[in-house]
Amino acid sequence: MRTIEAQRLSGIPESIFTTISQLAFQHNAVNLGQGFPDFDGPEWLMQAAYSAMKAGKNQYAPSSGIFSLRKEICENQNKYYGLQWDNEKNVTITSGATEAIYTTITALVDEGDEVIMFEPFYDSYQAVVKLAGGVEKYVTLKKPDFHFDFDELEALINKRTKIIIINTPHNPSGKIFNNEELQFIAKLAVKNDLIVVSDEVYEFLTYDGIEHRSIAEFPEMMERTVIISSTGKTFSMTGWKIGWAIASEIITGAIRKVHQWTTFASNTPAQQAMAFALTQLDSYIPEFRKMYLQKRDLIYSKLLETRFTPYKPYGSYFILADMPEDTKTKGIEFAKELIVNSGVATIPVSIFYKKSDEGDTMIRLCFAKSNDTIYKGIDLLRNV
Ligand code: PMP
Ligand code: GLN
Repeated sequence: MRTIEAQRLSGIPESIFTTISQLAFQHNAVNLGQGFPDFDGPEWLMQAAYSAMKAGKNQYAPSSGIFSLRKEICENQNKYYGLQWDNEKNVTITSGATEAIYTTITALVDEGDEVIMFEPFYDSYQAVVKLAGGVEKYVTLKKPDFHFDFDELEALINKRTKIIIINTPHNPSGKIFNNEELQFIAKLAVKNDLIVVSDEVYEFLTYDGIEHRSIAEFPEMMERTVIISSTGKTFSMTGWKIGWAIASEIITGAIRKVHQWTTFASNTPAQQAMAFALTQLDSYIPEFRKMYLQKRDLIYSKLLETRFTPYKPYGSYFILADMPEDTKTKGIEFAKELIVNSGVATIPVSIFYKKSDEGDTMIRLCFAKSNDTIYKGIDLLRNV
């Protein structure tokens, strides 16, 4: 029989989130694995989607997204980051940040182009770069504070380098790239004519008074940055899959070419509801942050009572923890055993590393969960 699968799919594994969620389901485990809230977003947001459906907003949206949502995104970019974008020229609504990442990389990466990313990385970057025929290059974020070596990054740049992908606030470490780091990356990008793809899906999930900054704010960076974000995290509606890519007119043109043949357009009533939701950020965000700060502090302090060693996150809704030193297994084996033997699902961080083995002994826990679930999950870890 002829080969079924396209060759470019070799080396594309099943997503760890699918693997772990399925195993967690089979064993009825407490799920601190895949990153999604185990509670709904606000009732008024559901009402807004329902009203949109009742008002007949049920057919295809324009491919680039509905006007009101693009407009609100631009207003918020200006309000929070001082960035002035044009909603017609610069914003494309996608089916989640996942599609924005896919369309951006597909639109920009040619066979053999090099793409630099930081490990631990969000796994879709690696997969889509491979699918596009690009070559991945890695810079390691080093424990305990997940800093990176500036020289290590600079040394990777050559004539084939086209893109640096950053993610701040960072999944899975909760690191927030500081000013000096962003500035260094921005200067490298300008000097070497690179594009920075900046995944900012946790832009409103920052703690301890740290504010999110976009690399697009640095001199000459608007023209060479693709900002990717999503309403899934901000409004606790990950299943609605409304995200976006913001970029210069020329980059947006390329992104839209791919987007039109990927999904053409994203869910219309959800876009309508999110356009309204984005007008509510000023009143909504403080409570939202307060809730997550309490959960961050709860899971961090509870983990300290176990034999796991947590790394305090400053953003996102994930926390990394070192396994006890005497565990017999590591990596994915350890995470599977944790589900089967202890009844708690976590993500093995080894999957997010390519170069360093620092991830072999770490797990990622998601605290976008009810306090009850957090208590239950951590209690089960006490026996490890
Ligand atoms: N980027 C990062 C860093 C993420 O953590 C996630 C999902 N948790 C995504 C992108 C995908 O976002 P979406 O669900 O909007 O597709
Ligand atoms: N981003 C989520 C996480 O990190 C998972 C999203 C997905 O399953 N694709 O857990």
